[in-house]
Amino acid sequence: MTAHKLKTHCPQGHEYEGKNLYVYYSVQKKAVQRACKACKSKASKVRKQEQLKLKEKQTDSKRLESLRRQRIYQLKKLNGLQNSD
Ligand SMILES: [Zn+2]
Repeated sequence: MTAHKLKTHCPQGHEYEGKNLYVYYSVQKKAVQRACKACKSKASKVRKQEQLKLKEKQTDSKRLESLRRQRIYQLKKLNGLQNSD
């Protein structure tokens, strides 16, 4: 009876039961896998937050870059005006 002991909880201690149980077929393992929905959604939330942070960083650097370019352009313009005089 206990030849195949199925895991009843995920590594984080969530129960593999009811709405928390996520069953999918893994092509890599060629087998049906069971996963914890709570951990899955938590992982995707973390991933989303990381992507959001990354996006903020990227937009920040982009904004800084455009500000820098504007300043350089204004400086060049000023210099150009001074030179032409
Ligand atoms: Zn879990």
